Amino acid sequence: MKVIRLRPGKEKSLLRGHPWIFDGAVAKGSADSGETVRIESHEGAFLAWAAYSPKSRIRARVWSFDPAERIDADFFSARVRKAIQARSLWHIDSDAMRLIHGESDGLPGLVVDRYGDTLVAQMTSCGAERFKPLLSKTLLAQTGLTRLYERSDGSVRALEGLPEVSGWLMGQGPCERVIQEHSWRLGLDIARGHKTGFYLDQRENRQLFYQWTRQRRFAQVLNCFSYTGGFTVAALAGGAGHVTSIDSSALALDQARANVRLNALDESRADMLDADVNTSLRQFLEQGRRFDAIVLDPPKFAPTAAHAEKAARAYKDINRLALQLLVPGGVLFTFSCSGGVSADLFHKIVASAGTDAGVDAFISQKLGGAPDHPLTVCFPEGEYLKGLVLVRKP
Ligand code: SAH
Repeated sequence: MKVIRLRPGKEKSLLRGHPWIFDGAVAKGSADSGETVRIESHEGAFLAWAAYSPKSRIRARVWSFDPAERIDADFFSARVRKAIQARSLWHIDSDAMRLIHGESDGLPGLVVDRYGDTLVAQMTSCGAERFKPLLSKTLLAQTGLTRLYERSDGSVRALEGLPEVSGWLMGQGPCERVIQEHSWRLGLDIARGHKTGFYLDQRENRQLFYQWTRQRRFAQVLNCFSYTGGFTVAALAGGAGHVTSIDSSALALDQARANVRLNALDESRADMLDADVNTSLRQFLEQGRRFDAIVLDPPKFAPTAAHAEKAARAYKDINRLALQLLVPGGVLFTFSCSGGVSADLFHKIVASAGTDAGVDAFISQKLGGAPDHPLTVCFPEGEYLKGLVLVRKP
């Protein structure tokens, strides 16, 4: 077993249960890509078993803090079983959910989503990559399913020096799926869609938007960055008079149209605009259009804290425009899924957007990701999705 020795004092975060070892913390030692290594303090005390990433700034990710643990088939099978069992702690009203959420489930670099009878996995670390065959077998054994598709095609693979790959790992089947979420059905494509096919993390927030719409009967709804129309379907199902959805992906909008039809909702009440959100918001403002409710769910503007400043400007711009487009009493669901922008910073950005817009608003609710994307106390970096429900003061 290869040993990675840390610099003096660099064991502190590990002793608190944090699972990352940065390159700057390593005094000596190296290993092959994904190889299991023994992490020791400068004084030689055991700290953890971890997976080595030779090219990444996150040089190793912890599998276990238990000196007696062996990182083998039994280890992975127990971790996967625990993660799946944890999902029954929450009421998840869908046949699609995240079964494994990386570090939060003690499996750094592994994300697994279930879409009905099909699993979709994403391996984003050298450790997960190395154990891919073992993990694949365990995932199917623990779920009793036969189909596993791989979507290891995110840009984070490059940070680990891993090539992008996608395709069937085990079994085969259709890539176009229809899932049930709350009281509606949603079509998606596990091969061509974003992430593993769908934004499962917004499930509870879509339900909340549905409830607000039912209660307030919004006449005019604007869904910005709509993707395949999850919030659009929620609004129409909740009785919205009219929903304008904007996305720059024609493919996503085709699916959004199909999702409106799939739920037998009135297509004449749904406009789909293949356009840039920023440009459209400015046009609406010039045209004097106003909305009773707006959803702003942009893509990740700041993947890391290094991009935070530029991202802050982009978030502020769209939030300012959205607040100006709201009628008094109107409701804004605004989100950031940037890991590099903390909840605190996001709140500040939105507050300053309000100041610039000359609009005061009640912060009605603070939102996060769905419970199957759990946050843990030892891994605050897991908090990437945050949202606010703002109500423009009448
Ligand atoms: N709210 C969605 C997920 C949004 S993901 C849901 O619940 O499923 C972000 C979306 O923004 C993607 O679909 C992407 O195509 C779109 N997008 C990215 N940049 C854009 C831009 N400048 N203008 C319009 N859409 C954009």
